[in-house]
Amino acid sequence: MVKKVLKFGGTSVGSIERIQHVAKIIEKEHKNGNQLIVVVSAMSGKTNELLNLSKNISDSFDKRELDVLLSSGEQVTSALLAGALINLKIEAKSYLNWQIPILTEGENTNARIVNIHTDKINKFLEKKGVAIIPGFQGISKNGNITTIGRGGSDASAVAIAKIFNTDFCEIYTDVDGVFSTDPNKIPIAKKIEKISYDEMLELSSLGAKVMQSSAVQTAMIYNIPLEVKSTFTDRDGTKIFGQESIDYTKSVTGVAYSKDDAKITLIGVEDKPGVAANIFEPLNKSQINVDMVIQNISSDKRTTDVTFTIKRDDLQKTKEIFEKNDNINFEKITYNDKVAKLSIVGAGMVTTPGVTYKMFRALADEKINILAISTSEIKLSVIIDEENILNAVKKLHTVFDLD
Ligand code: ASP
Ligand code: MG
Repeated sequence: MVKKVLKFGGTSVGSIERIQHVAKIIEKEHKNGNQLIVVVSAMSGKTNELLNLSKNISDSFDKRELDVLLSSGEQVTSALLAGALINLKIEAKSYLNWQIPILTEGENTNARIVNIHTDKINKFLEKKGVAIIPGFQGISKNGNITTIGRGGSDASAVAIAKIFNTDFCEIYTDVDGVFSTDPNKIPIAKKIEKISYDEMLELSSLGAKVMQSSAVQTAMIYNIPLEVKSTFTDRDGTKIFGQESIDYTKSVTGVAYSKDDAKITLIGVEDKPGVAANIFEPLNKSQINVDMVIQNISSDKRTTDVTFTIKRDDLQKTKEIFEKNDNINFEKITYNDKVAKLSIVGAGMVTTPGVTYKMFRALADEKINILAISTSEIKLSVIIDEENILNAVKKLHTVFDLD
């Protein structure tokens, strides 16, 4: 017997048929003698629908009431799933955040789970009961219902796995697992069997959205093994755990890309202390995230060029900042919003020499120009023209033996 958290995302519980299908998965796990805590999201689209309702009342809808409203989506799926299990003659019960309770700290709509009472649910599990818990929510010290940020059911599942000290945390979703690149665009993409937390974080922050990044981070801190798998097939999913337990035969685990970047170059910036700080300070104040930064060496020892990348959505705001701000002197500014970021990720890169060269050579062979570069221990990213991105992804996928 093992103790497990099973988390089902919005598409997995998106209709009555699907909820009944999920009940069958749980029935099988239950017959195997496992102790089960099930965490559910709201039906897909539901949270957005509720949010829109609140906007019809007011764009600045009261946040305490917003959390009461938004948390109702998960309440619905918890009850429906518990009911479906009871129909299958399984003892199941839904527990709302305040009944457990799941205690949170921080402001409404963006709280975080700090503790969960375990007694009641543990007793129920010992009597072979299946506990169903709505994800995405909790209750504050002063008794208000809270939500923990969009996509927060993953964080709920991981927190529950940690506090209940379960052996596994399985994240059921609508894809087979984590892929070596986007399977919708690049059909030769392969499902990854095992991946480390760090690699998963790099891939998900780069746009391979399978699980909420902050939930993966929590799992990493507490060393909670995760498995992402499909609700709709019987195939094994992707196991996510610490690097020590992974045997790397390949230097690169995945190729990720994002097409929502923009590149800005300030030409003829003074080359003296404080200039970079002056450039980036107002961006920081406007909460514009800067990703890559390159400063050329100054050939005349007086001026230099600074290039950096931001999210494309922030381009307009950034332009305005540079047009208005007199603290920043430069000769000319250029923008390019038709760029994309291409990255290779792999914990095996640390021990394999020549990965950088191999990537650059592969892009050169395809006549693709590199506009900016950044590296970390397990990631190498370049900015290239957007029109080349799919071609580049395919090429790297092949060059690094991922096909
Ligand atoms: N239902 C919430 C949302 O859509 C939480 C979740 O699905 O994880 O953000
Ligand atoms: Mg969701």
